[in-house]
Amino acid sequence: MKKNGSVYVLRFAVNVVLVFVILNTEEYLHDYGYLAADPRNHGAPNSPNGEMKNAILKFQSFNGLPQTGIIDQMTEIKMRAPRCGVQDLFPNEYRTTTHRKMHTLTWKISKYSQTSKFSPDQQRLIMSRAFKRWTDVTPLRIQETKYNPTLDIRFEIKNHINHKPFDGKDGVLAHAAFPPGDYIHFDDEEDWINGTVGGYDLETVSAHEFGHALGLYHSDVPESLMAPFYQTFDDGFTLHWDDVVGIQRLYGKNLMNSCELSYRSIHAAMRINESDFVFVDHGFVIDGRNGKRLAVQSLFPGGPDLVQAAVYSRVYSRAYLFKDDKVWAYMVSPNGKFNLVKNFPKYISNNQINAPECAIKFNNIDERIFLYKEGYLYSFYQEDVYSKDGYLANKYFRGVPSKVDAAISANYEINFIVKKTAYSMLTKSRVVSDKGKPVDFVFKICPNRVRR
Ligand SMILES: [Zn+2]
Ligand SMILES: [Zn+2]
Repeated sequence: MKKNGSVYVLRFAVNVVLVFVILNTEEYLHDYGYLAADPRNHGAPNSPNGEMKNAILKFQSFNGLPQTGIIDQMTEIKMRAPRCGVQDLFPNEYRTTTHRKMHTLTWKISKYSQTSKFSPDQQRLIMSRAFKRWTDVTPLRIQETKYNPTLDIRFEIKNHINHKPFDGKDGVLAHAAFPPGDYIHFDDEEDWINGTVGGYDLETVSAHEFGHALGLYHSDVPESLMAPFYQTFDDGFTLHWDDVVGIQRLYGKNLMNSCELSYRSIHAAMRINESDFVFVDHGFVIDGRNGKRLAVQSLFPGGPDLVQAAVYSRVYSRAYLFKDDKVWAYMVSPNGKFNLVKNFPKYISNNQINAPECAIKFNNIDERIFLYKEGYLYSFYQEDVYSKDGYLANKYFRGVPSKVDAAISANYEINFIVKKTAYSMLTKSRVVSDKGKPVDFVFKICPNRVRR
């Protein structure tokens, strides 16, 4: 890194265990698209403080850091973290939606890693696995070739061809061209490994760089694969829904693997074992075991015509369906049929809760069922079908949307669904994320479907 311009010296070297290195924050912010003026242009004045502050704020917001507008400790640590060499932000005029015109692409490693312990064959295998992440969820076909490839993969060090030089160990790990460019380069001074300890996982970094080569920019969702900084994932990784949404916007879905969940309106949903039952379009249910759409009463004999809320109790092995002031209970027979429990439907003996918006199951130590309506939660006691007075939902679960269409409860999280968007709440934190994701990434519909 060049040292002209204003040099920022690590002040926290004592309490954070980091090597004493010089970080030029102005150059850094310029290089990744946060600051317009290049501090290396001789004669150019330093960026005014306002612009620097603005650039720091943008960096912090993009990378999920507290927005202080100054280079605080967290910001500085982030800037020193290993990352991709591709810019995060682009001036609007340069940022266009780019994608490959062809749906069949080819790749070749034309310069193998000389320093890693991987043999050329192992390197090729890792690359093909990384490409598969993207082809699993799109109609793309990406194959290795011996000839002229669409995507040319090389392991390089320092100065190479006409690119921004690599910076040695750590720092920038790799970079790649957006379409129609053709290069994907890895810094061969890194320790490339398979795993999470003692180096950088080659498959993870490859899959990230291939995302660029297919047209994806950096994502501001910090847990996504396309976030700019290197991160390790437990048990390898799966694409984050943000990555899947991004790539499918460019190329569409993999219809071989998808099993469409389409509806106009949603009223209720419940998960039984690993399948979801979704009540939609005034009187229909999608059976998650096979993806079939049926009239409610043909799957739930004697049931309501329209289900407003639904939940499955593992403790009682019963599925509860709610409509207005009544509840239906079903047992699932060994052959998968739903049988109405004797003496049901019953009235809920509390006239405050009529027509619940959704029913949720909350597993902490024990299993508790709540009905939700207009911002209030009502405990639902299964044996006597009595629903107690409501509690203000936001006191217990922070950030529940004010109007909920359906909810799906798993053991560790609850998803509140509003139209086609799901808001997740981990049972551990009891805070509902305000970042909604498409419902497709929540429901378990159809076995063997590619799930993320
Ligand atoms: Zn990148
Ligand atoms: Zn390069």
